[in-house]
Amino acid sequence: MNRANEGPVPGRKRHGRGWNEAGEKSESHQREEILELLWTMREKGPVSVEEFLQMTEEEEADHILRKMERDEWISLKEGQVAFLEEGERRAEEIIRRHRLAERLLSEVFELEEKYMEPSACQFEHILNPQVLDSVCTFLGHPPTCPHGKPIPRGPCCARFKREMEPLVRPLADLKLGEEGRIVFITPRSRIRLERLSSLGLIPGSVVRLAQKRPAFVLEIGETTLALDEDIGREVYVKKNK
Ligand SMILES: [Zn+2]
Ligand SMILES: [Zn+2]
Repeated sequence: MNRANEGPVPGRKRHGRGWNEAGEKSESHQREEILELLWTMREKGPVSVEEFLQMTEEEEADHILRKMERDEWISLKEGQVAFLEEGERRAEEIIRRHRLAERLLSEVFELEEKYMEPSACQFEHILNPQVLDSVCTFLGHPPTCPHGKPIPRGPCCARFKREMEPLVRPLADLKLGEEGRIVFITPRSRIRLERLSSLGLIPGSVVRLAQKRPAFVLEIGETTLALDEDIGREVYVKKNK
């Protein structure tokens, strides 16, 4: 993530991959930050060079952008920053690492936001592709991060490996009579999310799957709810042991 969110502690040196002895970022680390910011800005629309340089906290962003253009990662035509294939591929990977790390930290380790963000930012520079796909599988190939932003799909999501039983999975994967604690919900709309929460379907509630067909029937405490089938794919649960 960008330094705005990362919040380096003044006077303390950073070490590890991507940081040199003096606590400065290496160029490859800076390039990763730039790609990541570019991706998130582009999710909202086209990105102008000017706007990008205002947003970035990388000190030599201007210079690095030009180097990235020379390496054919990005293009800087007509005052716009756009991805070329290589840059887009790299950015997608960083975003995937960051957002999966967020899911892992918030859902599995139940870290609060203030701890989650800096750790996710470190994870994104460390996780290798194999570990990442295991994390994705373990989490049930989540489609979004805890902030609701899409997680780029990886090879594991396409193959949908079942070698490792996911800890978190869609409600529809529970067997009849099984109980799960809701971990996250990925509704198609905000209104739908509000409707679900008004019914008590919120992260933390324990639900029991009573029926799948012809309607989806859930029990929450003393309440029985009949819901449409989509719900089974939108609500993710951790199985209750
Ligand atoms: Zn996020
Ligand atoms: Zn996956």
